[in-house]
Amino acid sequence: MAKAAVAQETLSYCTSCKIDLAHLIVAMKGDQIAKVECKTCKKIHAYKAPKGVTEVAPKKKRASKKASDEAQSASTIEAEWEKLMNAHKEAPFKPYGLKSKFALGDKIKHPNFGEGIVGKLIYPNKLEVIFRTDIKVLIHGGAPN
Ligand SMILES: [Zn+2]
Repeated sequence: MAKAAVAQETLSYCTSCKIDLAHLIVAMKGDQIAKVECKTCKKIHAYKAPKGVTEVAPKKKRASKKASDEAQSASTIEAEWEKLMNAHKEAPFKPYGLKSKFALGDKIKHPNFGEGIVGKLIYPNKLEVIFRTDIKVLIHGGAPN
C-alpha cells in the first residue's frame, strides 16, 4: 500500500457521521495522518482510526450476566413448582424417608427442603424433586424387586 499522503483517500472514523467512511487526507504530521476531510459530509476533522478496526469488542459483563441467569433459573423453578403444586392440588403430602417409595407427581414434605413434587424418577432408587427454589435428587425406596 502506498504511503499515506495529502489528497489521498483513507478510511477514517467520521466524528460527524459517526461511522467509518472514506476521507481525503488534508494534513499529515510526519508519517501520521493528522487531518482528513469526510467525503460524505465534507467536514474536516482530526483523523480517527476506523472504529471497525481499532474498537475492542465490548467485554462481556460476565458477573452480572451470571447473576441474572441464576435469578432467572430460580424464578423458573419456582414457576414450575407452583404449576406442579396446582396440578396436584388434591394429592396429599408424603413425608420424605429413605425407605419410602415415591411415584411421579407425588408430593413430598422434606424436613430441610420443604414441600416438593417428584418431577422425575431415576432408576432404580433416585428421585428428582422440584422444591420451591431448587431441584434436588433424593434417594428413596426405589423400584419394587
Ligand atoms: Zn462525515
